[in-house]
Amino acid sequence: MSYIEPAPVSSTHLNPFESMMSRFDVAAKILGLDESSYNVLKSPQKIVMVHLPVIMDNGKVQVFEGFRVVHNANLGPSKGGIRYSMDVNLDEVKALAAWMTWKCAVVGIPYGGGKGGIKCDPKSMSKGELERMTRAYTASMVDVFGPEKDIPAPDMNTGQQEMAWIMDEYSKLKGYSCPAVVTGKPLVLGGSLGRVEATGRGVMVTARSAMAKMGINPVGSTCAVQGFGNVGSISAKLLATQGLKIVALSDINGGYYNADGFDIEKAIAYRDSNNGTIKGFPGAKEISNNDLLTLEVDVLVPAAMEDQITAENANDIKAKLIVEGANGPTSWMADETLNKKGIMVVPDILANAGGVTVSYFEWVQNRLGYYWTEERVNRRADRTMKQSFEQVYATAQKHNVSWRIAAYIVAIDKVANTQKLRGVF
Ligand code: NAD
Repeated sequence: MSYIEPAPVSSTHLNPFESMMSRFDVAAKILGLDESSYNVLKSPQKIVMVHLPVIMDNGKVQVFEGFRVVHNANLGPSKGGIRYSMDVNLDEVKALAAWMTWKCAVVGIPYGGGKGGIKCDPKSMSKGELERMTRAYTASMVDVFGPEKDIPAPDMNTGQQEMAWIMDEYSKLKGYSCPAVVTGKPLVLGGSLGRVEATGRGVMVTARSAMAKMGINPVGSTCAVQGFGNVGSISAKLLATQGLKIVALSDINGGYYNADGFDIEKAIAYRDSNNGTIKGFPGAKEISNNDLLTLEVDVLVPAAMEDQITAENANDIKAKLIVEGANGPTSWMADETLNKKGIMVVPDILANAGGVTVSYFEWVQNRLGYYWTEERVNRRADRTMKQSFEQVYATAQKHNVSWRIAAYIVAIDKVANTQKLRGVF
């Protein structure tokens, strides 16, 4: 299948924000977005940068750089995760915040987009150091965060514990318990059943919808998954329950191949007892992360980080379908090659939106003070993901564009219309 897509605005774009904007530009052109809306939507509404002094275990004070970007809050409070990594920088956070705006709009939840991060190496920090840094970040963002304003969630290297610290610090500063200020909390603090698995579950649901459109039978299809954290491991586990054979896995330490398919439950248990890595998992042949991406498989799930499928390796990709568990795993310059090769891509802003969908359900439950069963959470999330896929698919058919550009069209149209209705005074 090949698509009519306008030529890229620039072929030298590489950083995540510019990669995102290149797709935005294509979709905006197809939509005929007026200049005023274009200018409003391309600019983040708020950028906050902080320096966080933290007392380290050795008694010295280390200063960490933290960011929070609110890209757009037209549809509701801004929503988006917090990432701890040495790679965190403003361009990345800006791109991730904008992706959250489009993602929430694609799945039709009443949120805008935001994102945050701290430039740090969490693996080298003690639990006490992480707690002090997280609390310092929360205190510095007390006027940014809020259940009606901006609601953080987990992202790379943050999870339930960090969310519990954020909720506690924010609540202390406000003087009362505010569970709805953050999602991805532990269950006992108002977390939602199904949240931990939600992103991987959405990957599985959209992969199934895509396979149905493409006439691929999941049973016996082969699949490679890059990244074996929350998203990668759960996607692999749930895709295996649908009959797919997961022949390759990877994490930051390298890739692993098993032609007979991995037992994912065992791989998860191994990772959990092996310092978070699947390195050394019995029966696995070691391959590189790039080998994994270019394997001859039916389905490829990049679920680690940005810019993994690039102009350099796109030509070597052999998968029929890519389902983007990670945010921004495919660079703008790889899109055209994948399109030409007829490789279908369920884009990040659709494929991994299951997480924010159940985050929304968590926030709804916190505000209601009434908690749903896991069955109800999953049923509603699955319905949202299936309907969103169908809307993107129909839009792609209508405009003869890739699923990625179709997802941007759906999202930008929605946010731009809201912008018009709300007006600029
Ligand atoms: P995580 O920290 O739980 O796991 C990340 C995994 O990727 C780890 O296994 C790590 O070893 C691996 N990894 C890191 N760098 C790698 C590299 N260069 N090559 C191969 N593997 C590498 O993070 P996560 O929450 O699973 O997030 C993964 C991606 O999914 C990110 O892009 C994140 O923004 C996105 N995402 C996460 C959620 C969520 O709910 N957690 C929701 C939507 C999108």
